[in-house]
This record gives sequence, structure tokens and C-alpha cells, in this order.
Amino acid sequence: MDLTHKTTPRLEALRAEVRAWIDEVMPEEYRGFQWDFEEDPHRWSFMYDYWRKLGAKGWIWPTWPKEWGGAAMSARQAAVVHEELSRARAGEYGGIGMSVGPSIARLGTPEQKAFFLPKMAAGEIMWAEGYTEPNSGSDLASLRTRAERDGDEWVINGQKTFCTAGHWCNWMIIFARTDPDYSKRHRGISAFLANMQDEPGIQLTPLYNIADGRQNVVYFDNLRVPDNMMLGDLNGAWNQIWFGMGGDPIPTFEHDDPGPEMDYEPPLEGYAWVLDQLAQYCAETRRGGRPMIDDPLVREQLTDLAIGVEVNKVIGYEGWNCPYGSHMHQAITKEFQPEFGQICMDILGPLGIIQGGRWAPLAGEIDRIYRRSFGNHAGGTSQVKRMVVATRALGLPR
Ligand SMILES: Cc1cc2nc3c(=O)[nH]c(=O)nc-3n(C[C@H](O)[C@H](O)[C@H](O)COP(=O)(O)OP(=O)(O)OC[C@H]3O[C@@H](n4cnc5c(N)ncnc54)[C@H](O)[C@@H]3O)c2cc1C
Repeated sequence: MDLTHKTTPRLEALRAEVRAWIDEVMPEEYRGFQWDFEEDPHRWSFMYDYWRKLGAKGWIWPTWPKEWGGAAMSARQAAVVHEELSRARAGEYGGIGMSVGPSIARLGTPEQKAFFLPKMAAGEIMWAEGYTEPNSGSDLASLRTRAERDGDEWVINGQKTFCTAGHWCNWMIIFARTDPDYSKRHRGISAFLANMQDEPGIQLTPLYNIADGRQNVVYFDNLRVPDNMMLGDLNGAWNQIWFGMGGDPIPTFEHDDPGPEMDYEPPLEGYAWVLDQLAQYCAETRRGGRPMIDDPLVREQLTDLAIGVEVNKVIGYEGWNCPYGSHMHQAITKEFQPEFGQICMDILGPLGIIQGGRWAPLAGEIDRIYRRSFGNHAGGTSQVKRMVVATRALGLPR
């Protein structure tokens, strides 16, 4: 597929501007930061500053209007920004909470929009997501966390799990049951926006993953949230936030397609970077008396990786234009990620698992990619993405 029609001289000028800016503000040692797998306070501190600089450019939410702190860019311009950030591994802003932005933009009260959107675009608010519960993952509508009204406040009690980077975030979106009639389970869930700072009603305990990252178990113990911090309608969170506006096929959320307020999801530029590095490593490293890159098997494996990266890129572009295309893209990407890690490991052999030091190829990046790829069901597993495409996009029976 020819992708050249996707670019123009103006887009390329923007690309050059973003590249130059990244080189100016992002030293090599901080590249590759991943907010869901990093625990070094020094790196986090650098990134908080960096995100504020990114926000000042309007590039955290490039498509948002200027009054919300965006850069009023077209989707294609925003794609260029995201691609360059991703290609330079220049830490995009807290990807988890990004899904809250479009929901506030669509459903928020004027006060909520005025308060949250500019702070999000400035890099001052980072959202934790409180959806999944110990017994409610893919089947989220079975959630049990309760919110009960008390005057002009809601009192929330319950437990969440897998809360990514919650301990680094200052706000959390929480799905809670507001209608105790469990038979109406999809129609009894509301969304709340809770300030986590100095909040005794929210307790987090660590849940470490195999890729050196930390999710959290979250306990709500009589957490009080003002009524004006309910997002969307009472009992309406499932349809309005989880599955688009009142059943409208225009989607709003990470389990649905991006709407106009949602920025384009960048292709796997980070993987393209790893592939380049790996190809270079194979060209420079001798095995069995010859450069690795001269081994026909290694060449075939590198070719498979390159095809996979390009296919994901094309689907990333094209999927954006069709209904439920982001699900299709995510299903394919989520399945490609472990495959990518596995093929890289196969190429490198035992050296691939070395995490640092002089013997670690690509400074341990392959080991990190391999381990991270198994946590890619954040935001929904590929099977669930496939199910959404089958039932909602293709109209197949359950
Ligand atoms: C690294 C990481 C970060 C995360 N971050 C967050 C976060 O910040 N906030 C948050 O709320 N949650 C978060 N999650 C939770 C994530 O959204 C859930 O793990 C995911 O939705 C799957 O739920 P589950 O783990 O309970 O698996 P289950 O729902 O128990 O699924 C188990 C298996 O059954 C399959 N399955 C289930 N139902 C179906 C079906 N109907 N059809 C076909 N197959 C099905 C699944 O695909 C999966 O393979 C995170 C998870 C991970 C791993």
C-alpha cells in the first residue's frame, strides 16, 4: 500500500519542527520512558517537567482547540506529532488516562470541561483508571464497587485492581454501581472523577508485573466525591462512556473507536526503532564466523518483523477511517507485540535475556520488550477486541 499520499510538505515541515524540539528538550538517557513500567522517581520527576513543556506546545492534545490547551491540529497533523514522539521514544503523556479526555470533552459539564481539559492539556493532571475489579475484567458490567448518595456527595466503597501508575497519578476515574438492582447491571453504573491527593478514602497497594512495572490494588473506604464530579448521567456510564454516547455508534473510549476529540493512535514507531537497532546489531555482530545479518534465517526473521511493523502501521492509518477500526487495529497490534518479542529473542538467542551491561544487546531493550508484551491486555484483551469487531462492526451473532 502506498502511504505517500498521507504526507505533504506542510506535514513534513511540522515533522521537522517536532524532531528538532524533541532533540532540544529530551536527552537520550530519558528516552524510552514508559509510564506503566517505570518506577525510578528521578525519571518520573524529569518526565513531569517534560510533559509540561510538551503541554505548553499544545502537543499533549494536538487536536483539541486552543481554549482547551490544544494546538487545534487536524488528525493528520496530530498523527505526525504522535509519530515523532513515538519514533524518538520521547515519552508520550500518560496514555492510560488519555481515554478520560474525550469523555470529559463530550459529556462533561461546562465547569468540568473548564477545570479538567486545560489542566490535562498542560500536563498537570494524570488520570488513573479505576475500572477493573478482582472479579470484573472483560466482563466489566459485573463490577461491585458501590456509590451511595449522601446529600450532595457520593460515598464510594469497594475494590479495584490492575490500576496502572495509580501511585503516580493525581486524579482517578472510577466506575461504581449506583443502582443496587443488579439485574439491570449495565444500566446501574456511574462514573466519578476523584481527586487522589491526600485522600484518605483511597488506599493503593502495589501489584508488581513481570516487566518491572507496577499496577495497584485500590481500596475505597468511604471515599467522598462531590455530586458535581459525576461524569455523564446517573447510571449512564456504560452506554455513555464505555460504549459510546447512548448507543450512538460514534465511539468515545478505549473500548471503542476514537471520535473527533480523540487523538490518532500512533503506529508502532517504537517497535520500528527497535527493529532498526536490531538490524544494525545483526550487521555489526559476528556469529559462526560471519555477520549475523548474512544468516538467511536471521534475514527472514528481520523481514517478518519489518512486515509486521508495516502492516500494523497501515492498519493504524486505515483503521482510523472505518467503524470499530481501532478495535481491529488493537486486536492485531496486541497479537503482534508478543510475536515481535519472541522473534527478537529467537534472533538473539540466550543473549536476549541479558538486562544490562556490556553483553546486553540493545542495552537490554529486547528483554524489556519481550516481558512487557505479556501485559498488553490493558484496555481489553485481543479476544475481546475481536469480539467487538465481530458483533458490533460485522453484526455477527454472539
Ligand atoms: C499491564 C496491565 C495494566 C492494566 N491497567 C489497568 C488500569 O489502569 N485500570 C483498569 O481498570 N484496568 C487495568 N488493567 C486491567 C485490564 O483491563 C484487564 O486485565 C482486562 O480487561 C482483562 O480482564 P481480566 O484480566 O480480568 O481477564 P478476564 O476477563 O478474566 O479474561 C481472561 C481470558 O478470557 C478471555 N475472555 C474473557 N471474556 C471473553 C469473551 N467474552 N470472549 C472471548 N474471550 C474472553 C480474555 O480475552 C482473556 O484471555 C490492566 C491490565 C494489565 C495486564
